[in-house]
Amino acid sequence: MEAVNFVDAAGSFFTINTQARTVTVRSPFGAVRKYRVKDGVNVDEMISRWAARPDMWRVRRPSFPSERTLERWISDGVARAVDGCLVEADGVCPHGAPAWPRVMGII
Ligand SMILES: [Zn+2]
Repeated sequence: MEAVNFVDAAGSFFTINTQARTVTVRSPFGAVRKYRVKDGVNVDEMISRWAARPDMWRVRRPSFPSERTLERWISDGVARAVDGCLVEADGVCPHGAPAWPRVMGII
């Protein structure tokens, strides 16, 4: 399975399974919904469109913070936003990207 992940400005985490043509959306509050990409929609084009949006950030697994990092960020009160900016642990950067602890529903 090839999974492509995005985070939106509201902190929702999207996982696109390009083979199954499904999108799983996890809100920062833990609600999960899953839907199928409509027939006729090219998933690769959809990914390109999302990547071009100013309110969506593509995130890759190696850049996901570890549990340890998240704990440190929360105790420091400073964290990375999903675009790499330094922000308050429950904040949003000047580009609108949410902090990771917010996305992970920890704060
Ligand atoms: Zn930023």
